Amino acid sequence: MARSVSILGATGSIGRSTIALIEAAEPGAFRVEALVANRDVTMLAAQARRFGARFAAVADPSAYSALKDALGGTGVTLAAGAEAVVEAAARPADWTMAAIVGAAGLRSTLAALARGGTLALANKESLVCAADLVLETARRGGAALLPVDSEHNAVFQCMAGAETRGIEKVVLTASGGPFRDWPLERMAGVTPEQALRHPVWSMGAKISIDSATMMNKGLEVIEAAHLFALPAERIEVLVHPQSAVHGMVQYVDGSILAQLGSPDMRTPIAHALAWPKRMMAETPRLDLAALSRLEFFAPDPLRFPALRLAREALLAGGGAPTILNAANETAVGLFLDRRIGFLDIAGIVEETLARLPATRPDGLEAILALDAAARAEAGRQAGFRAAFA
Ligand code: NAD
Ligand code: MG
Repeated sequence: MARSVSILGATGSIGRSTIALIEAAEPGAFRVEALVANRDVTMLAAQARRFGARFAAVADPSAYSALKDALGGTGVTLAAGAEAVVEAAARPADWTMAAIVGAAGLRSTLAALARGGTLALANKESLVCAADLVLETARRGGAALLPVDSEHNAVFQCMAGAETRGIEKVVLTASGGPFRDWPLERMAGVTPEQALRHPVWSMGAKISIDSATMMNKGLEVIEAAHLFALPAERIEVLVHPQSAVHGMVQYVDGSILAQLGSPDMRTPIAHALAWPKRMMAETPRLDLAALSRLEFFAPDPLRFPALRLAREALLAGGGAPTILNAANETAVGLFLDRRIGFLDIAGIVEETLARLPATRPDGLEAILALDAAARAEAGRQAGFRAAFA
């Protein structure tokens, strides 16, 4: 029987990789329930037609008339706006891909978890900004939460069936991004174009910048702490330029299990799509003989302060991870708009964390209010920096 799938963020990098796997799967294996995008109507409409989606929504209300022009009369139910995104997530589907970027994905992630089924989580920001709420909603809904982030998917694979008590630590690898070897002085002048050019992975803009600052790895440490119920000190980060090993689990008997693969998100997505079975993913196979060596280094805390800030936020708990995430999203947006410099991103996150009280926000409304307050404060900090630059 066909498994019904919904894709939130269908037109992005993760969304398109998910679509490619469904397209290449055996005919009749999957049926598409709902597709969501921000405003790329052309791509969304093509996807909806091709897979006979039942529901298609755009988050941006101004894109609704174009959506109607593109899909009117096809029988696809159409909707627009933030509520429509939540409605798409709430529609019954066996499997849902959460691939919206940023805290903007939180409400739809929660809606999908609340109704049960399997949620493949790429949208790490929703777990970072609202971990307790996300995990509690999954528990209540009886949903299976599967990690798609390559490192967490790797760790999940290496944990299969093991007793948690037997786990000593997990290791998340990082490519180190485009500025892995750059001196700090040179990093001050980095442009958005340079930061968007990731050496290994092809990804959306926000996560590409996060990889360049290594905030991405910081968010991933927080993500791992919640997904695997591990304290910060048992989550290690290693820079691994070859990006062949994605994650490792070290056991109390000294064994280390690692997951390897080419740096292609179709592998972890396919793992989550077929779980607990396996499905074919036509990715380039890893050629270990051609690679010939695998290197691992400790990350440099001076050139990559974002990693330290994320660890501090995880340890501080309460609202600190929500503030960290919101300030980072704001700063990344301003950097992409050329309003602040590359090193200002972590600086603004640090200032924002220092200025806002990190009391634990209780419930969704409080989380969204703290997220908004952190965005406003980060914007103010950016203004000061721009004025004195
Ligand atoms: P992307 O920018 O390529 O795509 C984002 C998608 O979300 C698009 O479909 C866009 O239309 C949609 N979207 C944006 N804002 C929205 C809103 N307000 N409401 C509804 N939809 C909205 O991003 P991406 O690289 O695919 O990343 C998506 C998520 O997956 C991020 O959380 C990222 O951290 C995570 N992730 C990505 C990769 C990767 O290789 N790209 C790897 C690991 C994790
Ligand atoms: Mg990752």
